[in-house]
Amino acid sequence: MPFSEFLGNSRIVSALRGMLATGRIPHAMLFAGPRGVGKFTLARMFGQAANCERLPDDFCGECGPCRAIARLQDTSALVHQGLAERGESADSATVERVPLVLETHPDVWAIVPDPVRLKNPVARPVLHVGQLRAVQRAAHFKPLTRRRVFIIDGAETMRWDHANIFLKILEEPPETASLILLAPNPYLLLPTIRSRCLQFFFSPLAQEQVEQVLRQRADLPAAQRKVAAQLAEGSPGIALGMDLAEAAELRKTALQVLTAIIERRSSTDLFNETAGLVKGQKTPFETVLEVFYSLLNDLLELSAGFTGQGMRNPALGKELAKLSRQVDTAWIASAVDALDELGGRLRRNVNKQLGLDAIALSLSEACNK
Ligand SMILES: [Zn+2]
Repeated sequence: MPFSEFLGNSRIVSALRGMLATGRIPHAMLFAGPRGVGKFTLARMFGQAANCERLPDDFCGECGPCRAIARLQDTSALVHQGLAERGESADSATVERVPLVLETHPDVWAIVPDPVRLKNPVARPVLHVGQLRAVQRAAHFKPLTRRRVFIIDGAETMRWDHANIFLKILEEPPETASLILLAPNPYLLLPTIRSRCLQFFFSPLAQEQVEQVLRQRADLPAAQRKVAAQLAEGSPGIALGMDLAEAAELRKTALQVLTAIIERRSSTDLFNETAGLVKGQKTPFETVLEVFYSLLNDLLELSAGFTGQGMRNPALGKELAKLSRQVDTAWIASAVDALDELGGRLRRNVNKQLGLDAIALSLSEACNK
């Protein structure tokens, strides 16, 4: 599966190929962008191309390294295997001593936030210092083929006081290694780390491209493919893993919360609505935040007089149009600010209900300003 099969973000793909062709490969890159747009996939493909036995700036998918590295894509199976090998009741010292490293070829590693336990994963997996140290050591080993590539997924979960381990690698980079950090937003990383990485900003894909990925990789009827692509807002990865009914329900309930806020109902009413959002939902808190952003975006465009073309939530078009007549752009802007602020503060909050109540309250405060 060569680079040509990667959909979207073609300028980033050609930049990477240019680096491989000229041999001017940076020691640290940051892939930033929303979840599910292919950051991990492209990093893995880069690892293949940097080590393919047949092609200099692409990968054949058939040689030994290509095939071994391709298996890295199934991260959940590899995480499962790693956790099972470490044992279900590993204590914190063991978690650091036996770091979770995903490796299907010695030259290309992926490290992902460690769920610690298989059956009872921690609510908020983070990158552990043991994982960072393992990368630090391995970065200096000679590659088996051409280049050691370390994919650091969820780089924003790295504790800032551990980030200096990273800085050390970035300050004295080994010639034959590249680090690729993946994060939803570059500003979640320390400025000293960010500034040492060549940054690539991934955009969401067009809806047709998401549908194309679904056609290739999911067994869905055309109508459902279309709905999934709409709800996923440009992230094929999200569309692939989506529970359609649940995703649609989440948006509907979030809209009810927003309506309650805009109609200035009492806090009790608000909290009743937010309780509806939590009930039965397995959705992570970030997703709930994203849904609010998405609804506010539509409201903003509608209140600025754009018609329904290209709406993020076409299924809720009528309700959103009605709401948009009750708010102005200033309110929406302060609501977005309130969400930004809250998102930063609650990044590590594990209680979804409290987090949602806080969203509702801060939005209604923004509304009453
Ligand atoms: Zn190959």
